Amino acid sequence: MNQKTMYNLTYGLFVLTSGFDGKDSGCIINTAGQVTAEPNRISIAVNKGNFTHDLVKKSGKFNISILSQEARFETFQHFGFQSGRNVDKFAGYTDCKRSGNGLYYVTAGANGYISAKVEQEVDLGSHTLFLAAVEDMEVLSDTPSTTYSYYQSHIKPKPEAPKTSGKTVWRCTVCGYIYEGEELPSDFICPLCKHPASDFEKVTS
Ligand code: FE
Repeated sequence: MNQKTMYNLTYGLFVLTSGFDGKDSGCIINTAGQVTAEPNRISIAVNKGNFTHDLVKKSGKFNISILSQEARFETFQHFGFQSGRNVDKFAGYTDCKRSGNGLYYVTAGANGYISAKVEQEVDLGSHTLFLAAVEDMEVLSDTPSTTYSYYQSHIKPKPEAPKTSGKTVWRCTVCGYIYEGEELPSDFICPLCKHPASDFEKVTS
């Protein structure tokens, strides 16, 4: 079995936004997809560690902003590399509007948004799978959607070679975080982007 087969699946990238009890937040996900057309339903799988996960669970509604090839790395940093538990991601953030359901969607680097209402939840352990009915949606631009591989090759800055002076370090291939040490613990979670040890590469100079 070749584990790298998974790399050949295509993934889009999205800002998932939700809100409950006066709190708004958003995070980056790559798991949105349409599952039925009549009625129109989408699914999202969200890591339970994300603050936005809890807001979706409590409010039963969310928006998906579909990121385009014009999305800037700052958008991924803003929504992906910090937690809504510590930071109000919409405080002073102007590249957004509220849709008819009262939730924010992101306007910068997004080519459309979908508003959905949760119909079913499936507990997947680390994640919850939400199945949701589409209630509203709009196209925001005709720029093609970004894929995860487009993000990796065109949006994410090329990491500079870390100054390791002969030491071995591990670099997160998602955000560039450097872990210093010969061996990366198998249960290590990137403190910036929350990706697991399998997304780190060994760098030796
Ligand atoms: Fe990372």
